[in-house]
Amino acid sequence: MSRLCAKPGCDRRATATLSYAYAESTVWLEDLAAEAHPMVHDLCDLHADTVRVPRGWELRDQRSLAAGPPSLDLIGA
Ligand SMILES: [Zn+2]
Repeated sequence: MSRLCAKPGCDRRATATLSYAYAESTVWLEDLAAEAHPMVHDLCDLHADTVRVPRGWELRDQRSLAAGPPSLDLIGA
C-alpha cells in the first residue's frame, strides 16, 4: 500500500511526510508516516528534497531512508 505525493500535478509515490508547528516555526521531514493524517503532507523524494520553508522557519530533515545507508566517507572515518 502506498500513497502519492501531495503536490498538485505530481503522481510520484510518496516517500516522506512533512509536518509543521506554527508555534515553533519548524517544519519536519520524516519517513513516510504509517497512516495518512490531515495535518501532514505526503511528499515524493523529489519534492521532499526541494521543500522550502518561510523566512525565519527551520527545516529539520529527519528522514532515514532518503540518503541511503550512512557513508563512512562522508563521516571522515
Ligand atoms: Zn512530488
